[in-house]
Amino acid sequence: MVNISNLGYPRIGENREWKKTLESFWKGNITENQFESEMKSIRLQSIEKQLRLGIEIIPVNDFTYYDHVLDFATMFGWIPTRFGDLSEKPSLHTYFALARGDKDLVACEMTKWFNTNYHYIVPEYQYDRKSKLLYNKPLASFLEVKNELGIITKPVILGIYTFTQLSKGYKKEDKYAVVKELLPVYIQMLKELEDAGVEWVQIDEPAFVLEETNEDFQLIKEIYSEICEALPSLSIMLQTYFEGVEQYHDLITIPVKGIGLDFVHGREENVNALKKYGFPEDKVLACGIVNGRNIWKNNLEESIQLIETLQSLIQPKDWWIQPSCSLLHVPVTKKKEDSLEPTVLAALAFADEKIEELVVLRKALEFGSDAVKQEIEKVKQSFEHLNKLNTKSNEIRSLSEEDFNRAIPFKERYQFQKEALNLPLLPTTTIGSFPQTKEIKIARQQWRKGELPESDYRHQIKLKIKEWIEVQESLDIDVLVHGEYERTDMVEYFGEKLKGFAFTKNAWVQSYGSRCVKPPVIHSRVEFMKPMTVDETSYAQSLTKKPVKGMLTGPVTILNWSFVREDHAKEDIANEIALALRKEIKALEESGISIIQVDEPAIREGLPLKKRNWEAYLNWVTRAFRLTTAGVQKMTQIHTHMCYSSFSDIMDAVIELDADVISIEHARSHEEFSSYLAENPYPLGIGLGVYDIHSPRVPSVQEMEQNIVGSLKVCDIQQFWINPDCGLKTRDEKEVIQALSNMVISAKKVREHY
Ligand code: GLN
Ligand code: ZN
Repeated sequence: MVNISNLGYPRIGENREWKKTLESFWKGNITENQFESEMKSIRLQSIEKQLRLGIEIIPVNDFTYYDHVLDFATMFGWIPTRFGDLSEKPSLHTYFALARGDKDLVACEMTKWFNTNYHYIVPEYQYDRKSKLLYNKPLASFLEVKNELGIITKPVILGIYTFTQLSKGYKKEDKYAVVKELLPVYIQMLKELEDAGVEWVQIDEPAFVLEETNEDFQLIKEIYSEICEALPSLSIMLQTYFEGVEQYHDLITIPVKGIGLDFVHGREENVNALKKYGFPEDKVLACGIVNGRNIWKNNLEESIQLIETLQSLIQPKDWWIQPSCSLLHVPVTKKKEDSLEPTVLAALAFADEKIEELVVLRKALEFGSDAVKQEIEKVKQSFEHLNKLNTKSNEIRSLSEEDFNRAIPFKERYQFQKEALNLPLLPTTTIGSFPQTKEIKIARQQWRKGELPESDYRHQIKLKIKEWIEVQESLDIDVLVHGEYERTDMVEYFGEKLKGFAFTKNAWVQSYGSRCVKPPVIHSRVEFMKPMTVDETSYAQSLTKKPVKGMLTGPVTILNWSFVREDHAKEDIANEIALALRKEIKALEESGISIIQVDEPAIREGLPLKKRNWEAYLNWVTRAFRLTTAGVQKMTQIHTHMCYSSFSDIMDAVIELDADVISIEHARSHEEFSSYLAENPYPLGIGLGVYDIHSPRVPSVQEMEQNIVGSLKVCDIQQFWINPDCGLKTRDEKEVIQALSNMVISAKKVREHY
């Protein structure tokens, strides 16, 4: 038998009702009762919708008021003591304070959920407090749907191992003790579910795809044996996703009733494991077959073939087909996309359409693929049409190794650049953007709606550029920028001007809390059309004798922050973007720009989950960056910028970028990175951010001077640059002027000592 299951459904609602409800509650525009009842209706609607679309095993408790990891942390009492001594379910106020802070309390840490763009709140274990079940949210969610709709659903529970791995507050060597301390509480939660008539629970253990040790797996087996023994009539679907599982042969000996595997992202590994070790006949196999992390139609033919292959290999108790992971990571429905190019629209499948695909797949498995011939044909056609959108010859094939390497080595070209640019010791610069004022944002909106003529909009941008070139000159900054006033977003701006991109109206995906993002779609070959930044940059340059730094977003960041095709290698897409940007760089050079920064803040977040795959990733990533930048003349100085994390573990790859200068976020990981650099001197130009731009505080001259002096202990002064941590577009103008003025003074003071 084949059943259709789901692992989780987007919370945000078709029109982001969830976000709007949250935000109006936070603003005090609705009462707690209104909030609860609005949320309940969103929650129940999504259950009814999944049922209507054909899901048979419907998840509950995937819904949350903020974050599912935070839900479990508050259920078990794993929250910092500054939030008070919890003895029961926290109030809504406390719950949101944990996530966002309030006037007295600093929020908990937030970090990325595996390799997705979803961010969770990090639970904090407390040594001085015993874990306790303060409330049972999965139970409440299950009962709600049972009572209101009469449907038996499958509660989704965060696995005890993954939960502990994602938490902080305990020493590494105490991990086993901590898991065991939590275990009885965890079992109590599940017991209450069992008693309430739950048939299946889905226990999510994505950490099983990481490279955990044998010892860890022994612990995992032990815990799950205990769980299963305590809950004889509860069926557990042990769910993994995002990659192939490690230690498959151990995993299948765990006495749960079902195992869920990702056959999209871990296809090869999981299929090989099944071939090698088989699959227990007394367990259900849940096959993640439709990509839960992308927006394209499923290749039905391939999926049917895959399941048929699996069916020829193994005989599980039952088959479930489902998305590869929770649909949390994709937009809700493509129904509202009425302004997309039809060829692009036809190839898309968001959450609701993915569920429909599962229904088609089941039909094929029941009645043979002939029964879904039309659907298969339609998918094929969609992609054939899509591929015809851009048929120009592929320049990537004619590249040679020289295109990836600068002709002259760093030491030599840096010397040329120094002379040509005539910069002082410890040159000062900024990361690119200056504060975006309300007027500029309003002007852009009006221009987009056609209410403001393009020439007026451009004129306003130019005025802003002029104003800030003057500001930078009066502050005596050495390398100026134009300020990025024409950009709302560093990827969107380039996507709109390159061929191969599409922008949706409503394809929102939750990033953290109520914040949603709408990534662009790269649907066909990326191509340069005409210069994208030359007007603004060369206008800025015409106003000053100091060098103005051109400002581009790098190929890997554009790729990692977009939805990309599954049937094109990421490496190829990155190289296409690189070639397009290479042309932009050429155009900038030709217009007299001698310093060009190519931002790559998102390189690190694209790292594969398994460390053994890092090298291959970093290899194509650095090549794409070099393809973008290596064609310049020796005098042209290439800068790059990185932020959002610490970089010690990928510094070898950063060096491989061969950028003349890198500016890197530093204020928040100061100690760690400095001691790394002390051991591993950076061989190219570098600017370690001298102040944190995320806070409205204006740092003093003395503070920055100390930072610089500290950095010079581990960096070569001849190659050191002075800059803030990141772009300044979110700050206010007055603050920025004061901070930059102090920054320049501090640089000058340090110069005097050398
Ligand atoms: N040049 C960009 C800016 O200053 C860089 C943004 C980023 O690193 N995220 O805004
Ligand atoms: Zn940055």
